[in-house]
Amino acid sequence: VTAFEPDAELLALFRKHLPDWFEREQRDLVWRRERDPYKIWISEVMLQQTRVDQAEPYFVRFLEAFPDVHALARANLDVVLLKWEGLGYYSRARNLHRAANVVMESHGGYLPRSRERLRALPGIGEYTSAAIASLAFGERAAAVDGNVIRVIARAFELEGDRKSGRLRATVREIVESLIPHDEPGRFNEAMMELGARVCTPRSPDCAECPLRPRCLAFHHGSQESFPQVINRKSVPHYDVAVGIIMHADRFADRFLVQKRAENAMLGGLWEFPGGKVEDGESAEEACIREVFEETGLVVAVQSELSPVSHAYSHFRVTLHPYVCTVTSGELHNDGLERQWIDVSEASELAFPRANRLILERLMTSQTSDHPRG
Ligand code: SF4
Repeated sequence: VTAFEPDAELLALFRKHLPDWFEREQRDLVWRRERDPYKIWISEVMLQQTRVDQAEPYFVRFLEAFPDVHALARANLDVVLLKWEGLGYYSRARNLHRAANVVMESHGGYLPRSRERLRALPGIGEYTSAAIASLAFGERAAAVDGNVIRVIARAFELEGDRKSGRLRATVREIVESLIPHDEPGRFNEAMMELGARVCTPRSPDCAECPLRPRCLAFHHGSQESFPQVINRKSVPHYDVAVGIIMHADRFADRFLVQKRAENAMLGGLWEFPGGKVEDGESAEEACIREVFEETGLVVAVQSELSPVSHAYSHFRVTLHPYVCTVTSGELHNDGLERQWIDVSEASELAFPRANRLILERLMTSQTSDHPRG
């Protein structure tokens, strides 16, 4: 392959045609309507792991509940998690809440204006601090996320795994050389927008791209080969048994839920007790064992609901839910928050997505199924 050196014209396309393209083509997103630092912060955190179309309604709902830093800081974490429910990656919500308190206590209620000081806040990393500092405060900071890495890796045909620190560092260096002193935030936004809408992971729309005349990947037809994927690891899968433990006496339609420890994955969210199915045991046996180990209750399985599959960032799970009744035992007194609730009360607690799907199956089964035995 003949070397196709990045040249002045390619750099000029980034500096001139990209912002012009953004001016013409940018979407009217709710958080773009006013350049309020708080709103920019919330939107950037939501967009860390969520698509724009999915994030928008959550953004509106979140801002209605917590219109400013002060409101977010004084809110109860349970309510913050409830407003976040469905967006996933709940550490983002916990960190927003913690950071809002730091902003109130240490920064007089105003977000710090520099990238360095923003980075010291919980949940604000390299990318988000650069995005906020450039968009809200005009700092010339390069915001490099997966979208930007893809655009630059393709335009310059950069070698290196898409997740590698080496590729990220090279991309940052290139973006830092390109980012203008005037309106650096718009340049960052233009890069992100191009990556999200035109230079997409599959089938990039090169015909619409302002970089096409000098893009190396387009020139060589190698768009799908960049950024490179080296060392792709397979994603593990786990079967997890889940117990929907119905209350034995007075509260016949109530079931047990417990709150996950705050420092755990999905921390602060409510869930049904349960755990991984071990080698050599059935999901039903695992349910009985896990429920006993976690809660101290001995249960008998009454019926089975259809399984729920869910993908997290580093693994996939299939949850096998069983409706159970208590035959003996006492609830552990281990400091974990637990309560007996019915389905209507469940709407006031934050649950992980997969547990919410189990709740939906439970509601359907309560109106249609008959228990076993
Ligand atoms: S021309 Fe195609 S591959 Fe190159 S940056 Fe644009 S969309 Fe991406």
